[in-house]
Amino acid sequence: MDLKDLYRDVILDHNRQPRNFGALANADAHADGHNPLCGDRLTVWVQLEGDRVTDVHFEGKGCAISTASASLMTEAVKGKDRAAIQSLYEQVHTLLTQQSAAPDASLGKLAALAGVSEFPARVKCATLCWHTLNAALERSADAVTTE
Ligand code: ZN
Repeated sequence: MDLKDLYRDVILDHNRQPRNFGALANADAHADGHNPLCGDRLTVWVQLEGDRVTDVHFEGKGCAISTASASLMTEAVKGKDRAAIQSLYEQVHTLLTQQSAAPDASLGKLAALAGVSEFPARVKCATLCWHTLNAALERSADAVTTE
């Protein structure tokens, strides 16, 4: 099995059985995302302890890339603080947009998204969950400052 098959299997697996799927009770914030180019829609819920994401769930309807990307993201960001999530997103964005980019070992299973760079039209499918997570985190920050 070569790397491409392995990546494809990870995407198919996370599309068929998305992790952390469903509304999160006791969420501190949530946000809705929509990618009109493909029709992907999802909602991301976050639970925070200070600056750290202690739990994150998502739910939505979309293509295999958007669902698998969201599932992989929830696994990757759980337990991380905002700064770590931001730098992880930057790594994922590079992976999705630069064909020559070799996945960094720190990306873990997110490396499976490397193949998306061959299909520029699908990049927004893969980044939708990250933008939605960001919107949820921004909302929770507002909630804290207005308390
Ligand atoms: Zn899509």
